[in-house]
Amino acid sequence: MTDNSDLAALIRAIPDYPKPGIIFRDVSTLLLDGPGFRATIDRMAAMVPADTSLIAGIEARGFIVAAGLSYALGLGKLMLRKPGKLPGEKIGTDYELEYGTDRIEMHLGQVQPGQKILLVDDLIATGGTAMAGIDLIRRGGGVVDTALFIVDLPDLGGAVKLRSAGVESRSLIA
Ligand code: IMP
Repeated sequence: MTDNSDLAALIRAIPDYPKPGIIFRDVSTLLLDGPGFRATIDRMAAMVPADTSLIAGIEARGFIVAAGLSYALGLGKLMLRKPGKLPGEKIGTDYELEYGTDRIEMHLGQVQPGQKILLVDDLIATGGTAMAGIDLIRRGGGVVDTALFIVDLPDLGGAVKLRSAGVESRSLIA
């Protein structure tokens, strides 16, 4: 396993987006790179706990990660979606972002009681988004004890927040 600095180099930093003082890590440049994206998924797949039976991805960039891992490991995927997108019976959680507020929703009945679910997204900052996903999955009856990200911004405390909720945060790049 490398230190993943090769993949970190494919992610560009955009200063003052979406507001002054925030440095946005733009993974679109990593996604453009075929070998880089394949290496990202391969290395993340090696970090997935063996007892995982479903991959939950957070809209929208989390879906890309979830789809790659789901294919690589032959596991199903669960979509945690922005409001108003899911047609069936659903539950939702409102949460605070690094910049603003948002909400995600999950279909009811798509998680088996006690099913071991891995939460994935492109990036963890404050951890508010991931905590909302964990809350949804747990309310739906699933078990989450690990979350996986391409990038962790440790100064923003997300991994610590997840740990206090009993979830280990893993990332390729921190
Ligand atoms: P958190 O809720 O503060 O942990 O923010 C993480 C969520 O916001 C994830 O869904 C990310 O996709 C998105 N996000 C926050 N900051 C960045 C960034 O610098 N680059 C890309 N996505 C970000």
